[in-house]
Amino acid sequence: MIKRYDTYTVELEPGWVWLVGAGPGDPGLLTLHALSALEQADVVVHDALVDERILGLVGPDVELINVGKRGWKCSPKQSDICELLVDLGKQNKRVVRLKGGDPFVFGRGGEETQALVKAEIPFRIVPGITAGIGGLAYAGIPLTTRETNDAVVFVTGHDESGGMSRRVAWEDLARTVPVLVIYMPMKSLAHIAERMIAGGRSPAEHCAIVSRASTPHQRVLISTLERCAADAAESDLPNPSLFVVGPVVDYRAWVNWFPGNRSPRLAPLSPASAE
Ligand code: SAH
Repeated sequence: MIKRYDTYTVELEPGWVWLVGAGPGDPGLLTLHALSALEQADVVVHDALVDERILGLVGPDVELINVGKRGWKCSPKQSDICELLVDLGKQNKRVVRLKGGDPFVFGRGGEETQALVKAEIPFRIVPGITAGIGGLAYAGIPLTTRETNDAVVFVTGHDESGGMSRRVAWEDLARTVPVLVIYMPMKSLAHIAERMIAGGRSPAEHCAIVSRASTPHQRVLISTLERCAADAAESDLPNPSLFVVGPVVDYRAWVNWFPGNRSPRLAPLSPASAE
């Protein structure tokens, strides 16, 4: 018998702000703390990225504020969001700031905690499963294997200016890192692939675009560095998407398990064997 999860519940007190990671989409990937935060919240401030099914877990009396694009303001600035969190904290609400994936992985959790510290609003961080880990697992791509890579890098395809980050040395990454997981890649896909080839990667190297990972709309496109931009344009994959480069992509040929294509060689788990 599994212990009731509320043994581990921490009280979300009035006047506190919790920065909560919602994971990549599948509600089953929420942590116990994230679930209990949603149960206790007076107000949930969320991004466009948070899956509808997760928002559906929130009770009818809870105020939902969408600070994603086309939400609360036409184009909310990060400073507006920080101000909103501080205001809600000062109003003595139980505030959940719900973010896709993990709050500290390209999630601007750093800026928000800084604003809360400045305003002396108490807060807690509830880590979430980041898309680059959980989403890749749902795409059937292992992040590391003993045969292929001792390192993996998470890198963003574009920065706060909306363009390709000038701080990323793509050629150097291409030379030194076997597996790259690129967040927000789509606007710069052709350019990233070109620079990786310029850094010495083979144009024929396999790569994958993983779209809407862990949702019922998940799609995975396998391509090569030289063809990926054209293939992506042709298949019109919706965001959010990740771009993965490296030999682990080939493992998808047999790791691919979602949605539900179990290996016929494995007997289904019986209650006895699941103990
Ligand atoms: N904090 C988030 C990342 C925010 S940046 C996290 O930890 O996952 C937004 C980017 O995350 C998207 O552009 C995309 O690259 C990636 N992403 C988030 N959810 C995703 C999903 N379900 N499938 C594929 N990519 C996803």
